Order: sequence, then structure tokens, then C-alpha cells
Amino acid sequence: MARFIFVAGGVMSGIGKGVATASIGKILQGKGFEVTAIKIDPYVNIDAGTMNPIEHGEVFVTDDGTECDQDIGNYERFLDRNLSTNNYLTTGRVYQAVINKERNLEYEGRCVEVVPHIPNEVIFRIKKLSQVSRADFVLIEIGGTIGEYQNMLFLEAARMMKLRYPGNVIFILVSYLPVPKMIGEMKTKPTQYAVRTLNSAGIQPDLILARSVVPLDEPRKKKISIFCNMSSNDIISAPDVKSIYEIPINFEKDKLGKKILSKFNLKARRGDLKDWQKLVKNIKTNKKRKARIGMVGKYFKTGKFVLSDSYISIIEAIKHACWNKGVEPEIQWLNSENYKKDSNRLKELKEFDGIVIPGGFGNRGVEGKIKVIEFCRKNKIPFLGLCFGMQLAVVEFARNVCKIKSANSREINPKTKYPVIDVMPEQKIFLKEKKMGATMRLGAYECKISPKTISFRAYRYNLVSERHRHRYELNNAFREVLERRGMIMAGINPEKDLVEIIELKNHPFFLATQFHPEFESRPLRPHPLFREFIKSSLRLRN
Ligand code: GLN
Repeated sequence: MARFIFVAGGVMSGIGKGVATASIGKILQGKGFEVTAIKIDPYVNIDAGTMNPIEHGEVFVTDDGTECDQDIGNYERFLDRNLSTNNYLTTGRVYQAVINKERNLEYEGRCVEVVPHIPNEVIFRIKKLSQVSRADFVLIEIGGTIGEYQNMLFLEAARMMKLRYPGNVIFILVSYLPVPKMIGEMKTKPTQYAVRTLNSAGIQPDLILARSVVPLDEPRKKKISIFCNMSSNDIISAPDVKSIYEIPINFEKDKLGKKILSKFNLKARRGDLKDWQKLVKNIKTNKKRKARIGMVGKYFKTGKFVLSDSYISIIEAIKHACWNKGVEPEIQWLNSENYKKDSNRLKELKEFDGIVIPGGFGNRGVEGKIKVIEFCRKNKIPFLGLCFGMQLAVVEFARNVCKIKSANSREINPKTKYPVIDVMPEQKIFLKEKKMGATMRLGAYECKISPKTISFRAYRYNLVSERHRHRYELNNAFREVLERRGMIMAGINPEKDLVEIIELKNHPFFLATQFHPEFESRPLRPHPLFREFIKSSLRLRN
């Protein structure tokens, strides 16, 4: 039977529970165990596909086309495993399953109640994952914060599992210890309250990961130990670090892996994280050369704060490629709306080694992005377009090179006479009937790479598989005119004859994809297209 490790967060959100969970997984993997992880989002949404990235962060997509929380991306990057719909759960999914079972008389006439039927369904899903993955360890990350109404039923599932499988389940609390400036001291009280609240749900944590700006010292450890009724051995220091990839190494300084294994009466099968240590050493080494990459998007601002979570996989993919090339990544957010208002500002793009235009939806910021693309094309600035970034590159090329002045994407102008990007035929019905959940073209599809292209140079394969999330596509009626004017269709989906990658003649690096390569980049295996982008950017701008 698999062992189960629940991870939940105390005090506040955004303290890196997902990365902590992924790091625990990495450590156990290093000790020779097979690990998988499941993220539970307390939202009623069935999946993350219908959520605004500013509110919820990036929508990550798995091979099987599940639109899920960005933490699944963290798990994939740390564990270097492809995950699936079994690795993601929401309140909506659980309730939907229970209601469907009730309608099918699967409860045999019994009264179906929130407790125990909802937690039972959660447990059923967790166990199903353990069966299909055959993992030695299943990590279960409960979203939200302890004390919230929303995740109570998931805590109840954890409590019930601990009772049902004694010795096979532990609970880890990732808590936060603030160091308020005016006091200048690390405070443990919020963590004490979090543990007390957890106790009132019938759970005593087995380990606490103490997140803070600085390492935990002995007096604080002792305080938590006394007031939370735990051995100080079970309280692990988890200070801020330069790179998230350092976290497993840092946890191991406090022997977290050994402590977890001893809770299950297990011994390490082997003991190394050598490749990972090498990676971290590389990340931390000061590098003279920087790769300055500009990202032109719109999901950055919330009030007075700037968030980058909406593009986390792209940011990570850029970093992976930079480390691989021995340069320091320096990524700057550029607001697309600035360039529409003031085309003088386009000149600032010359300061970058390369420009990325990520995926997106809807009208806002589009004309600014098209200006940026035109500037990169004309000034031979290395350019990487992803999904919406590719579609807008086609619009720009049609307008300014093929002289189809009113060319557009049907998403931007449904009445356009020249829909160079058009809605995919099978999507029309979904849009008409407003069936928006999980109906895009999602997940992994094949792409055939044309020889003698940058793409081929990068992949070195004729056929690759990449992940998708879109409703619109390059309109094949315009393919000939685009090609005649110098656009190269470098990647095609053989099944649908759908253009997956474009490149340009007469430009040193202009490449854009209908798919999302960023989802498959791993720290130790950077994605070929990102690697090629960074390599060319450095060479061309030297
Ligand atoms: N909005 C575009 C489409 O639906 C692009 C989607 C994306 O960038 N993920 O096709």
C-alpha cells in the first residue's frame, strides 16, 4: 500500500505550499521512492480553465488536456513526471461525482450527506491515484489556508484517512512566521493559532515547515514545540531562498527526508540528489552574461501590485534554458497597452536580447502586441510567440507584409472580412451554445516538423508532441499568400493539417507556436525551442 502525506498551509496563502509539496516529493524521489502528487483546489469550479489568470494564476495543461492549477506544473517540473486529471481535484469535481453517483442510485437508496459522502469521495480519488500511479508516496496538497470554511471537508478526509490507515498517513503543516519590521523579531503566535485550528479539526501535524524570510532559530523552535505540542525535531526551518529549486536541498539540511521516512518506519533505498545539487549550484553561481528577455503581456497588475504568476511556466522555461546556456536570466514585464498609446516606446525593445509574447485571450492589449511584433520583425529582434503570440504574429504579417490591411483574428473581430486566424470548425458549436468549460483544443497533439527550419535544428526530430489550449487556428485559406511572402510553416499537425509553428524567412530568429512548449520544460531538460531561442538571442545580440 502507498503512503500518504497531506500538506496544508497555515497563517496565509502564497507561502509556497505547492513548491514545498513538490520539494518533499523530490527528496523522497532522491531516496529511491516513486512519488506522485495531487492538488486539491477548494473552488467550486470544475477546473481552472474558466478562471481569470489574474485571480488564480496560470492555467496549467497536462498531456491529457486537464486545465489545472499551476502547482501541477511545479510537481511536473520537480518530479519530472507527466501528470494527468487524476492529479487534480476541486470541490466542484467532488460534488459533481457524488451527485452523479446519487442519480445513478449508486448509494442504494441511502440518504447522501455532506459528511461522510463528500470526504469519502475525496478519499476514493486519492486512492485511485495511488493505484494508477503505483507510487510509493502520494502527496496531497490541500489548497487554501487552515481555518477557512472552504477546505474543511478536505481536512475531514485527511482525518478519516489517518484513522483508517494508521501508520500510513502523515500530516505536514506549512506555516508562516512573520518578522514585523517594527518589532524586529520572528513571531510564532499565528502558527500556534493555525495548529490549534487544525487540532479542532481533529488533526495534529506530524511536521511543521516554518516558512519565513530567515531561518528559524532555537528559541522559536522551542516555543512552537511547547505550544504546539510537538518535538522540536519535527519543526523544520524553511527560509526564503534565491531559487525555488534550492528548497529540497535546504529542507535536507534539516534532514526532512529522513524524518519523514522514520514516521513511516521506512529506510532510504538510496540517497542522492546529485543532478539536482548540480543544478542548484549552477543556479547560484554568479554569471557574467545576462539574457535580457522582455515579456509582453497583460495579466500582471492587481491594484498596486505586480504579479507574474499568470506566466509562471514561461518564466521557468526561460530560466531553465538560460541556466543550461550558463547565463543569468533577467526577465522584464512589459505592458502591451503601453505600446498602443505611444509607439515611441517601442525603441526600448532594442535593449532586450529577445522578446516573448505569451498566450492570451480577448481584445485588451492586442494592438500593442501587434506593434511589438512588427517592431521585432523589422528590427530583427529575436522573437518567440506562444499560442496567442503566434496568432497575432500571423495577423501582423498579413496586414503589413501581405498588405491585407484589415486582416484579423475572428476572436478580436468576429465580422472581419479577412480572418487569417479563424475559429476551429468544431469550436463553433461550443461558442454558440456557450459551452466554455474544458471545450478548447486541449492537451497533447502531434506536430510534424519541416526539415531545414529553426524548429528542426532545435528538436532534431521529425515528429514531436506538444500541449495545446486554444479555440482559434491559422486559416488555411491564407496559407499560400502568407508563404509566398516569406512565412514558413515549420510545424503541422498531420491529423488536422493545422499550422502549429511559423517562422520567417529573412529573420534570424522569429518563431511562434500554436502550442505551449513552456508546459514541458523541466529544470534538467530545458525545452528545445526555449533553448534555441536563448542560444540564438545571445549569439545574435552579442
Ligand atoms: N485566444 C486564443 C485561442 O483561443 C489563444 C489561446 C492561448 O493563447 N492560449 O485560440
